Amino acid sequence: MQTTFTPRQLADPHVAASEKILRTCVHCGFCTATCPTYLLLGDELDSPRGRIYLIKDMLEGGKPATPEVVKHIDRCLSCLSCMTTCPSGVHYMHLVDHARAHIEQTYTRSFSDRVLRATLAAILPYPGRFRLALAGALLAKPFRPLIAALPVFGARLSAMIALAPARFPSRPAPEPAPVVAAPRKGRVAILDGCAQPALAPEINAAARRLLARHGVEVVIPPAAGCCGALVHHMGREPDALDFARRNVDAWTAEIEHGLDAILVTASGCGTTVKDYGFMLREDTRYAAKAARVSDLARDVTEYLATLEPLPTIVGAGQTIAYHSACSMQHGQKITDLPKRLLRAAGFNVKDVPESHICCGSAGVYNILQPEIAGRLRARKAANIEKTRPDAIAAGNIGCMTQIAGGTSIPIVHTVELLDWATGGPLPRALEGARFAARPSA
Ligand code: SF4
Ligand code: SF4
Repeated sequence: MQTTFTPRQLADPHVAASEKILRTCVHCGFCTATCPTYLLLGDELDSPRGRIYLIKDMLEGGKPATPEVVKHIDRCLSCLSCMTTCPSGVHYMHLVDHARAHIEQTYTRSFSDRVLRATLAAILPYPGRFRLALAGALLAKPFRPLIAALPVFGARLSAMIALAPARFPSRPAPEPAPVVAAPRKGRVAILDGCAQPALAPEINAAARRLLARHGVEVVIPPAAGCCGALVHHMGREPDALDFARRNVDAWTAEIEHGLDAILVTASGCGTTVKDYGFMLREDTRYAAKAARVSDLARDVTEYLATLEPLPTIVGAGQTIAYHSACSMQHGQKITDLPKRLLRAAGFNVKDVPESHICCGSAGVYNILQPEIAGRLRARKAANIEKTRPDAIAAGNIGCMTQIAGGTSIPIVHTVELLDWATGGPLPRALEGARFAARPSA
């Protein structure tokens, strides 16, 4: 694609990076075939190619965002399915991230939008506030139909309440750190994050047990927290970079004591941590440290796949539908590893039809765009149910929460199944389900 940015515009490194991306697009339109919003809405401006044109026009003209640009960029899930499909290697993720930051700087949203976005940014990245909000959402659940009918905020508030689990997630009793099996094979940090410890603290507990059984020591630096993805996807760049810097500092201190990897158990966060090197490239104090952190970042399944498999204790055999999160398959290009690990642990793993299509979670998308997100969830749940699984496995808490609202089939994290199969407790979501432990043959 030809561009006409001026040398002055290109002196801005963000514009220069976007110009490079725009030039790689040959407007072939292959990406439209796998874009969920184009699939649902059939509007070229809701396709990757259409959005690329809108972004080019906005940046090239040095213009503030218009309501039309905002509408179509807001509808983008950042699922990155278009990046997997694109034969020219267009880095749509960096382009849309830049567009969202530009929108945030140049466009004044409606009052209700500003209030909602500021509220989400002030609550979700902080586990303590998130837990309080969850308690409020649980109390409000019986009044959802009334809330949905409220003008202005109704639909989005109702979507937020619907996402809260039916029961308040219990905090597991503090466990002593699991004993690391000898011989010691490594030392890693795990990102605890923000939403996941509030919604499902059992995921990282399972990861720690599993890693300890493998002989891997786990550290969770208390100064590390939200990866910044939630605010990053809302275009709140300064906030996102602050979260990134805080984590880079926390992990750099551990790297100095020897760290083999920085593990992430939520693939949405993993995609962002792997991008810290790019996000902080212009920050002379942080660029090198951030690049080192990104270099060490791994999805937990990537790291587990490098270790000797553990003997299976319960001889599973149950049928598992594996839901591949967009951030896992499109963002990090991890497609087979989680399934291979589950199969090696004895599960019968099924692929989900249309697995490349997003479930509609996409960070806070299911709150900001509840109508599209609801349609994608229904489509995903129907596709999962076609495989008639005993349970669903996924590697991203956002997808787990979203899909749980669309089906009665229990959903668990991949590491919870691997932990259970190799000696850990039955995952909480499977208690009472038709999911009995079978003794290993
Ligand atoms: S597939 Fe790639 S090159 Fe073709 S229009 Fe889409 S982004 Fe551009
Ligand atoms: S990120 Fe997803 S929703 Fe956005 S343009 Fe690409 S395929 Fe479409």
